[in-house]
Amino acid sequence: MDKMEGSFAVEDMQNVQINIGAVVKEVEEWDQPMGPFPYPSIATLRDWDFKIMNRYKVFYSPICDRCTLCTYGPCDLTGNKRGACGIDQAAQQGRIVLIAVLMGCTAHAAHGRHLYHWCLDKFGDLPFKMGDEILVDAPLVRTIAGIKPKTLKDFGPVLNYVEEQVSQLLACTHTGQEGNYVDFESKALHAGMLDSLGKEVSDLIQIVAYDMPRGDEDAPLVECGMGTLDKNKAILITYGHNLAGSAEAMFYAEDNNLWDKVDIGGVCCTAIDNTRICEGIGHPDKEFNDKYRMVGTKAKIAGAIGWWRKMVRGDCMDCIMVDEQCVWTDAIVDAEKYKIPLIATNEKIMLGLPDRTNDPVDEIVDDLVNFRMPGVVVLDPVKAGEVGIKTAIAVKPKRAEIREADPFISEEEFKKYAESCTYCHSCQFVCPPHIKIGDVVRAAAEGNLEPLSSTYEICVGCRRCEQVCPQEIPILSLYAYANRDYIRNQKFKMRAGRGPIKDTEIRRVGAPLVLGTIPGVIAIIGCGNYPNGTKECYDIAREFVDRGFIVTTTGCMAMDMSLYTDAEGKTIWEQFPGGFDGRNICNIGSCVANAHIHGAGIKVATIFAGRNERANYDDIADYILSKVGACGVAWGAYSQKAASIATGFNRLGVPAVVQPHSVMYRRAFLGRTDKKEDWEIIDARDGSRVYCEPAPEHMLYVAESVEECMLMMAKLCFRPSDNNSGRMIKLTHYCDISMKYFGCMPPDWPIYVRHASDLPLKWKEDMLKELESKYGWEIDWKRKAILSGPIRKSDVSFDPTNIERKIRVKK
Ligand code: SF4
Ligand code: SF4
Ligand code: SF4
Repeated sequence: MDKMEGSFAVEDMQNVQINIGAVVKEVEEWDQPMGPFPYPSIATLRDWDFKIMNRYKVFYSPICDRCTLCTYGPCDLTGNKRGACGIDQAAQQGRIVLIAVLMGCTAHAAHGRHLYHWCLDKFGDLPFKMGDEILVDAPLVRTIAGIKPKTLKDFGPVLNYVEEQVSQLLACTHTGQEGNYVDFESKALHAGMLDSLGKEVSDLIQIVAYDMPRGDEDAPLVECGMGTLDKNKAILITYGHNLAGSAEAMFYAEDNNLWDKVDIGGVCCTAIDNTRICEGIGHPDKEFNDKYRMVGTKAKIAGAIGWWRKMVRGDCMDCIMVDEQCVWTDAIVDAEKYKIPLIATNEKIMLGLPDRTNDPVDEIVDDLVNFRMPGVVVLDPVKAGEVGIKTAIAVKPKRAEIREADPFISEEEFKKYAESCTYCHSCQFVCPPHIKIGDVVRAAAEGNLEPLSSTYEICVGCRRCEQVCPQEIPILSLYAYANRDYIRNQKFKMRAGRGPIKDTEIRRVGAPLVLGTIPGVIAIIGCGNYPNGTKECYDIAREFVDRGFIVTTTGCMAMDMSLYTDAEGKTIWEQFPGGFDGRNICNIGSCVANAHIHGAGIKVATIFAGRNERANYDDIADYILSKVGACGVAWGAYSQKAASIATGFNRLGVPAVVQPHSVMYRRAFLGRTDKKEDWEIIDARDGSRVYCEPAPEHMLYVAESVEECMLMMAKLCFRPSDNNSGRMIKLTHYCDISMKYFGCMPPDWPIYVRHASDLPLKWKEDMLKELESKYGWEIDWKRKAILSGPIRKSDVSFDPTNIERKIRVKK
């Protein structure tokens, strides 16, 4: 259209439609220029990804050698063969990895999109304020998009960006598109970064809209465990990740004084988010704030995902509301079998149920309470919340009258089932944690219930054993029968999700973290697919918090580690403070709150080191990789979301350790310490290249056992920037964990020694002797100094980087 010049008065115009696009907000909001990569597209950060993959080689463990993705297939991809489309095995594995990461990324981003629309509908466009102690308030949005959101609506363009990129990335997986595995992995890293961004948007929206804690290290302790659900009341279970409907159920209970008639227990991340509602700095809507202040503390955490089927068999619910993500799709089968009405509240999970969104509440409740249908879809969160509460209260007495509604088997049934076992051991072969179920059932038949009790927490509730049992023994029901008392008494305390890390906390720990005197940040995440039970969550957390690491956790791991106490009966949340500091443990929040752990790393780079974060992703990731001792662990990880979370951490320079079953993710990023050229790092002072110790050695590592996992986590906290005392502390923990669990020093400890003052004090003398006698290092015994031998000398002003543009003066 031609531009018309001159001035026009609005009153002169008729039938004119004026479209105003996005108003670019004032530049002066920033005290830093726009960085090089605002809203990066697929290829923008490819150089950074290649840097990661040049050092951390892509290792594939294919689950299948065939491809059946198009009608040319099935194609055999073994050896050097290629599919009809030309793709080879490596690229095919990269393609599958990308698809998995995209699944995870879209789950989080779509969750954010739903919350964005719902919260704007419910609350209007609220100001985005994180409180006085969080000024770097959306670190991933700033670092990736280069914008500072001021209201909820400002997150709209960020979600648009994620959605566009996801669409572009998914297109790359079509036949005849990308054909190189490294490029597939670069795309997966891009999707991992988008995942972190989608998570941040999701959590920030709900923090503001529902006034959740904003970095509160003293967030309330809330009740956790199946035994906290009061059987004298109706029990409404809200299951999934999106609190919209669940929060409305809580508001309905509050508005109508129904808490003495109903308990609301959450499962999976909805549980965590329920318990964060209205515990923040105060909601801008005064009436809402006054009405619902601290309502979150009234909700209970029924448990994590791995406990779902145990809860069903343990008679822990009268009504179920499901929302989205990680909801076992046979929930409706169990609901129908045990007469537990189910309400699906989100378009992502509708389970073939009738959509009753537009029907009157009482009609829906009447149909559910009289079991005319096993469940309904109600997509209006307010209506769903009311239906959930009313149904739970009305159906409870009806369920009590029906034998089929009681999932507990009788003593006679228990005996009959146990005695019908033929010890074929089919169950044992499919059991992910390898429980010898046949032996357990045999013991039960002989009257010994102890094995059913001692393996109860190890069972991940997958129900695979029941599906293969030729005798159709309901093994989970045997477990429930034998553990009735445990179920009733499973009562613990968990700290409600505190939300982001405060700037003030970063100021306090920035220097010790970069110098290594706080040995590292440990991010413990994961789901319910534990190789050896939920206790390992507690053991990992306890090991590292005791050692002075900063321990952070989210989601199901936070819930599962709450189920154990020390000798004084205190859970980990009662044993240690909740700040972002050494010897502290933070429950950051639900899965989407994982983004704040990324955010903490970004804030160390910006607040402590003064790096510009604005649209400057690779620079920040380079800083974190080189200087911030941090390691994630996804123990019990099962989902595609766990894959995208770990991949997002990796692109930001944070290594991760995953559990043994994670070989199913098909891909690891492993360092090769034998390849000297892989470990050359640039000294930003003059551009010289320095051969460094492998710190961190791997980017994504599959551990075989929890002991190996802990040893690797300690090792992956080494960074080239450690000062001598920091390196000494890290080496002490690395060697001590090895001695504790393996009874010997780790074989590679010498490669982390640059100077005698790096050596742990308690082994210094012996280590110097070993370095001299076994490795041929020259030692000056008078000064107890190392004269030659280390990979490099320690240099306090060494400024490691992997990015050429960070070189200040070229030699
Ligand atoms: S996508 Fe390629 S490898 Fe897969 S089935 Fe089709 S032609 Fe074969
Ligand atoms: S339900 Fe439990 S016992 Fe059965 S296969 Fe799964 S983990 Fe094993
Ligand atoms: S599959 Fe069934 S019959 Fe066979 S050992 Fe397991 S419980 Fe017993």
